[in-house]
Amino acid sequence: MKPDIRIGYGYDSHEFKPGIPLIIGGVKLPHDKGLGGHSDGDVLLHAITDALLGAIAAPDIGSLFPPSDPQWTGADSAIFLREALKRVAGDGYELVNLDSTLILAAPKIGPHADAIRKNVAELCGIAGDCVGIKAKTPEGMGTDNAAVAHVTVLLKRALSSSDDLRKEAEEELDDDVIALIGRRTV
Ligand code: MG
Repeated sequence: MKPDIRIGYGYDSHEFKPGIPLIIGGVKLPHDKGLGGHSDGDVLLHAITDALLGAIAAPDIGSLFPPSDPQWTGADSAIFLREALKRVAGDGYELVNLDSTLILAAPKIGPHADAIRKNVAELCGIAGDCVGIKAKTPEGMGTDNAAVAHVTVLLKRALSSSDDLRKEAEEELDDDVIALIGRRTV
């Protein structure tokens, strides 16, 4: 039987490049540089996507959407997140909450944290108070020209139909009967 809960962890990093927009958590932030690399460079959505995929032991974001494939150049990273959520649902799970830590020298995330939280919550279909957005500067790390994201997610098993509910009830009943028989024969 599948576990009732599963944890997932995702990590990503992208280098700052001048002349491109900075998008974090699907929100465009005012800054003189953006994040280069895969798609729109949204380091947070990439880490969330990998955390979700990891929680159900699915292939990672780079395997599903290879950076070498030109169709993902400049793509909206919400596409990857939606695919991960679809796979989570297809595997019989739903997202409970997620927590994240961003590490970047600039810009300051604090003033934008609520906007990022709101957008990520909407994209993931969970409440805003189930999305943690934390940020730190890379003290002593020497990574001032990069943005890093760490994300953990918690999934719970979803009961999607009356058939599932009946199956659950039958399994629980079986356990009760076994426990009862066990007690009587001891
Ligand atoms: Mg990435």
